[in-house]
Amino acid sequence: MSRVWNFSAGPAAIPTAVLERAQRELLDWNGSGASVMELSHRGKRFIGLAEQAEADLRELLKIPADYAVLFLQGGATQHFAQIPLNLAGEGDSADYIVNGHWGEKAASEAASYVRVNVAASSRNEQYLRLPPRASWQLDPRAAYVHYTPNETIHGVEYHDVPEVGEVPLVADMSSNILAEPLDVSRFGLIYAGAQKNIGPSGLVVMIIRRDLLQRAARPMAKIFRYAEHAANDSMLNTPNTWGWYLAGLTFQWLKEQGGLEAMAHRNRDKAGLLYQAIDGSGGYYRNPIDPAARSRMNVPFTLHDSALDADFLKESEAAGLLALKGHKALGGMRASLYNAVPLEAVQVLVQFMRDFAARHG
Ligand code: PMP
Repeated sequence: MSRVWNFSAGPAAIPTAVLERAQRELLDWNGSGASVMELSHRGKRFIGLAEQAEADLRELLKIPADYAVLFLQGGATQHFAQIPLNLAGEGDSADYIVNGHWGEKAASEAASYVRVNVAASSRNEQYLRLPPRASWQLDPRAAYVHYTPNETIHGVEYHDVPEVGEVPLVADMSSNILAEPLDVSRFGLIYAGAQKNIGPSGLVVMIIRRDLLQRAARPMAKIFRYAEHAANDSMLNTPNTWGWYLAGLTFQWLKEQGGLEAMAHRNRDKAGLLYQAIDGSGGYYRNPIDPAARSRMNVPFTLHDSALDADFLKESEAAGLLALKGHKALGGMRASLYNAVPLEAVQVLVQFMRDFAARHG
């Protein structure tokens, strides 16, 4: 068996140990004589799994008791629309900070259900830097403030949680949840598509302050209402049981690795190594992002001559380095360094980049 070094932006690498365990348990999970995928979500065994996954996530992120944890579907994109439905009343406005592609999309989807006020944007700077907190034009009457702490495509990341006063802070953490310890109490709502730092796609993890569950005043079907999902332990309808299972295994793996402090340390080392290789290449490789705003999870970079891109991709793939092609909006390359990507993968990448530069000087 040969596993590549996987730098995919998402669906992304899953820890090999998690996949191996899932493989061992595939045909006979937990003594049931059936796969976890073949069992009722209402059965005692699956409910035990669901409770354990939530308990492990609560332990990892030190989630306070006045927050509900939901395991939902629809991808982060569906929640771009569902969040305003749940948190804003008819005629309300909400503040959006737009610091990359996904924040832009979140604001545009929300506009069907809430008056969107773009309180800050770095679009005119091609998202190469972050709008500093001091520049945000927040409205104290806003239903909430939405931002994207890590922009997966543009490779920019807020390294501190912004202070927004009494208005609930809503964060799309699809590409940086669990990358480091987090003070959950600073947020009203955190949500993340699973396919980067949690598990497979088709699952969304949401952490929501319980008082916000009571807000959804306008008429809507139950299936859209977070309070209903919370009241039914995320089993209002059939959940993504397989995704939930793999998320649970990933949470256990994170605990075995030393928890989020250990991950933060490792993630800093990984990103540091790659940025150093880029910055130290004498201009052969470039990352144009303001160094203070550089993402630890997603590192876009270009070659000094884009005519070399095709060779870089072909040779990197041959060297066992997968998915380095950049997003089409930016071109060039991108390496995603989520929790499941080990330091060794980055060491191999950096060595490949040096060798490539020497070969194609
Ligand atoms: N937000 C962020 C930050 C993302 O990176 C992505 C996916 N790349 C999305 C939202 C959209 O997620 P989904 O495809 O699960 O709807």
